Amino acid sequence: MEKKNIDWSNLGFGYIPTDVRYVSDFKGGKWDEGVLTADSTVTISECAGTLQYAQTCFEGLKAYTTKDGKIVTFRPDLNAERMIDTCKRLEMPVFPKERFLDAVDKVVAGNAAYVPPYGSGATMYLRPYMFASSPVIGVKPAEEYQFRLFATPVGPYFKGGAKPISIRVCDYDRAAPHGTGHIKAGLNYAMSLHAIVEAHEQGFDENMYLDAATRTKVEETGGANFMFITKDNKFVTPKSGSILPSITRRSLMVVAKEYLGLEVEEREVLFDEVKDFAECGLCGTAAVISPVGKINDHGKEICFPSGMNEMGPVTKKLYDTLTGIQMGTIEAPQGWIREIKVTE
Ligand SMILES: *Cc1c(COP(=O)(O)O)cnc(C)c1O
Repeated sequence: MEKKNIDWSNLGFGYIPTDVRYVSDFKGGKWDEGVLTADSTVTISECAGTLQYAQTCFEGLKAYTTKDGKIVTFRPDLNAERMIDTCKRLEMPVFPKERFLDAVDKVVAGNAAYVPPYGSGATMYLRPYMFASSPVIGVKPAEEYQFRLFATPVGPYFKGGAKPISIRVCDYDRAAPHGTGHIKAGLNYAMSLHAIVEAHEQGFDENMYLDAATRTKVEETGGANFMFITKDNKFVTPKSGSILPSITRRSLMVVAKEYLGLEVEEREVLFDEVKDFAECGLCGTAAVISPVGKINDHGKEICFPSGMNEMGPVTKKLYDTLTGIQMGTIEAPQGWIREIKVTE
């Protein structure tokens, strides 16, 4: 299979249509068999449930080329399971796990020429999603849905090394207690856009959301979970019912404990404790870990000892180990890597 002629290391994080995407329709109470199609457009009713009442959700994962030239995905079973949890909460039909995994395999294999080569820093981003496609005007779940999955190559998240970012404590809330913060619903992102535009206008890269009920506990950013390293080298990450369970963060907890021998604590994290941590990072599929150098709390700055020039030393080890597992240079825990068979 010949790779596309793309300048991989200069790709950004944007949408580039690839050759095939997977589509399956839910009608009359069941999913059809699903197809790969070259058609990148969607045609739905002007009154579709997704357009009126935001009945839509998504997932995000990546395919990588390993050092020995295999194409793999990282823990796609967890994306399948998380989408099932999301769909149940949004009264959407569940797309079965085995079918989700099959769709991932087919879309990656069908677009193998777009999977960036090992060492380029680029990866293939996969976007599974589902939306209500049939008309809804009275408020209720739609009758028909579409599941789609497309692939798009994305460039290295950090060009020229991971520079620590600066974030602000946000006065808007991301998620209510017992709300939808723990599921990957588009609606959680729509309401975060005003807050992120405002943060950027003020010169910050991201928002740190606190718990909506008491505004005393750390939750997450708009699209990534927090991890902290204490001065005595413990890995600490917030626990809350309104945080999206990041697969990167859950994997880092295993890496911290099993590969680096660190003590791991998933617990409530008071904002008051944050000033005492040694390192801070944001975890998610896109960047793996973005190091945080500075947090601005209404003009009062918390500066981490790791500074604004480089990742903290423990964060760096976590980052190198997890990306090594993904790229096939470090042995993965059982079941973390799914090889994609490319026939051609
Ligand atoms: C997707 C997402 C994350 C990161 O999850 P990963 O599975 O690690 O990519 C974190 N927070 C929110 C709100 C998200 O939507």
